[in-house]
Amino acid sequence: MTTALQVVWLRSDLRCYDNASLHHAMQQGPTIALFIASPLSWQQHDMAMLKQNLLRRRIEQMQQELASIGVPLLAIEGSDYSMAVDVFAKLLPLNIAAVHCEVEYELREQQRDASVQQLLVRHQVAWCSYDRLCGFAPGSITTADGGMYKVFTPFKRNWLQRYHQTGVTVLPKPKPQPAMEIEWPELPAMQPASELPGDWPVAEVAVLERMRDFCQQKVQQYKTQRDFPAIDGTSMISPYLAIGLLSVRQCIKRLELEAANTLQQADSGAATWLSELIWRDFYKHVLVAWPNLIKHQAFQSYTSAIRWSKDEALFTAWCEGRTGYPLVDAAMRQLNQTGWMHNRLRMVVASFLVKDLHLDWRWGERYFMSRLIDGDFAANNGGWQWAASTGTDAVPYFRIFNPVTQSKRFDPDGDFIRKFVPELADVSAKRIHWPHPVAADCGYPAPIVDHATARQRTLELYQDAKS
Ligand SMILES: Cc1cc2nc3c(=O)[nH]c(=O)nc-3n(C[C@H](O)[C@H](O)[C@H](O)COP(=O)(O)OP(=O)(O)OC[C@H]3O[C@@H](n4cnc5c(N)ncnc54)[C@H](O)[C@@H]3O)c2cc1C
Repeated sequence: MTTALQVVWLRSDLRCYDNASLHHAMQQGPTIALFIASPLSWQQHDMAMLKQNLLRRRIEQMQQELASIGVPLLAIEGSDYSMAVDVFAKLLPLNIAAVHCEVEYELREQQRDASVQQLLVRHQVAWCSYDRLCGFAPGSITTADGGMYKVFTPFKRNWLQRYHQTGVTVLPKPKPQPAMEIEWPELPAMQPASELPGDWPVAEVAVLERMRDFCQQKVQQYKTQRDFPAIDGTSMISPYLAIGLLSVRQCIKRLELEAANTLQQADSGAATWLSELIWRDFYKHVLVAWPNLIKHQAFQSYTSAIRWSKDEALFTAWCEGRTGYPLVDAAMRQLNQTGWMHNRLRMVVASFLVKDLHLDWRWGERYFMSRLIDGDFAANNGGWQWAASTGTDAVPYFRIFNPVTQSKRFDPDGDFIRKFVPELADVSAKRIHWPHPVAADCGYPAPIVDHATARQRTLELYQDAKS
């Protein structure tokens, strides 16, 4: 009888350092790893092709990284999540003792895991799951009566209290195990990744270096620079957090090392960056506490009565960056061309879709998922509901961004606009935020709505829904 194997099922933890599944599996015995590409399920989640490609590239790279510690990784081409049960049924003859994986919170993922778990239990295979997607697991940061916070600030206070008491831990990369020969069952191999445009390395060491360099060189200026899309002032690590090539704990630990002297000062760049990482935790905790959000329901139930416009022409103009509002258009074109958008711009375009065009925030949420390389359900849903004032935010619905004022404030010289709206390349910094009517001569569209009128209409829409 051969020694029973430990299986690491990789999903949202595509890394070798600080990987609880890999760490514990290798402590228990000879380990193999498994990844199932699931393009049909990814499509159901509106996952951007760029993100799918990032996943595939990472797995190709990870095969080499795991091989260096003696762990063979079987990467399979599946269809939808239901195929996972068949895959495990075919792996069972390898003599499996346990399957290790990181918890995923979304609905279809939970259903998939429940089916696999049932199969494994029938065959006396242990199921070991680890809840380490956040700094602190959902359900562990609660109000005095054990509930989840509905607003961020007290959540953050409690999170920081816990952090100061216990800190966070990261796990080392496991030591190599002896090489293994595995007779894999017949299963379709994962399709190779295609070209990945942009500067998105997939080697673990390169990504850890990117995060370290940010903490060493940029985090001190983060508070003052993070809102300006023309400046390279944020970490650009969200795609890696989204696929688990980085863990949030690694970020916190690195921040402690590189910015120990300022992290305790509430208004420092380091503390501000930590606060953003806590936002990420917050939205995941919210999702687990209110699972209806996964079904795209609004957090503030009264807002389900809002009578959204169904104007598809306006939606198309927004998607294509043809609204006549230069900062909105530059942002949408950045998203379409690169799969990325700066956080300030995500807030501006989301507010514009909902409060200037009066379109349902779910249209925008879905479009973002289908384009973003860092698409993450909890952060995206949280960001959209924040912008639409349908979510956990304490700020009321009458906070409405003025897209021209935002443009003057956060792209004062118009450098970002010129980069993505070439029609306006020769327009002066003074005029670029509102280049009408002269912009028509350069082929730039006229504004599709009047902001002041739209603002008034928004107030009526929300007021009507409330009453
Ligand atoms: C409408 C809208 C949609 C969004 N959709 C997504 C999404 O699909 N995926 C995603 O990762 N983020 C999303 N965000 C949050 C934020 O815009 C991105 O995390 C950020 O721009 C990523 O850039 P960065 O890695 O340079 O971030 P940094 O500024 O360096 O911050 C570090 C990390 O903190 C986390 N973070 C920062 N801001 C937020 C936030 N507001 N909410 C939650 N986490 C945050 C991210 O993991 C980020 O990588 C969205 C925000 C809005 C307003």
